[in-house]
Amino acid sequence: MDGIGFMYEKVNMSEKCAAIILAAGKGKRMNSDIAKQYLELDGKPVLYYSLNVFQKSFIDEIVVVAAEEDREYVKEQIVVGYGISKVSQVVTGGKERYHSVMCGLRALNRCDYVFIHDGARPFVDDEILARALDMARNKGTAVAAMPVKDTIKIIDDNGAAVQTPERSCVWQMQTPQVFLYNEIYSAYESMLKDEEELFKRGVKITDDAMVMEMYGKRKVYVSEGSYRNIKITTPEDMEIAKILL
Ligand code: C5P
Repeated sequence: MDGIGFMYEKVNMSEKCAAIILAAGKGKRMNSDIAKQYLELDGKPVLYYSLNVFQKSFIDEIVVVAAEEDREYVKEQIVVGYGISKVSQVVTGGKERYHSVMCGLRALNRCDYVFIHDGARPFVDDEILARALDMARNKGTAVAAMPVKDTIKIIDDNGAAVQTPERSCVWQMQTPQVFLYNEIYSAYESMLKDEEELFKRGVKITDDAMVMEMYGKRKVYVSEGSYRNIKITTPEDMEIAKILL
């Protein structure tokens, strides 16, 4: 596809883009002894696929976040094994996803934009990365997302539908989620200072956009993701992933 070749060029050569690939989750919903990001798809671990896309892209540096007991395996078998040379470090993650993100942010060298990506999303592609960078340059933030296909309902504690949001306004968030490094770092720092309070209020931080919305100074903008960019969460997702591959 020659016509979109321009999308992959980094216009500003002094601009540094880094990525944090998250792989420290236990994946309890997968009902498997092996965490979902290490299950094999066509003979290669799920985590390999997104690392390979970032490796071949305009991204300059990658930090992988893994559980302490998996770090050696990730380094030797995945990073060295598949020649993912842009990985500068494999660091230990934390209890919740947001702890792992902070471990990644602390480990990164100075950069302008940081792409935070779930290692459990193997089907991210060059075009998603290019669109996200484009949006981040324009607006300062970019979150890969897609409009929902189903009608969404808000349900009360008894399981009764109480509200039906207008479908065209409801999007499902994906990753990568892209921010200016300094801005997302300070937003995360503020959120972590508030962690106990959030816990008391029952607020669960499930993505980076939420941290920027609540503690950052910028609005979060969506950029077009892809319906293929699924997150592997349950055993059915592995079946779908095999078909997509
Ligand atoms: O649990 P969830 O599906 O939201 O996880 C999304 C991504 O975040 C996965 O790639 C998972 O490995 C990662 N994660 C992490 N540290 C945690 C929890 C999740 O790196 N404590």
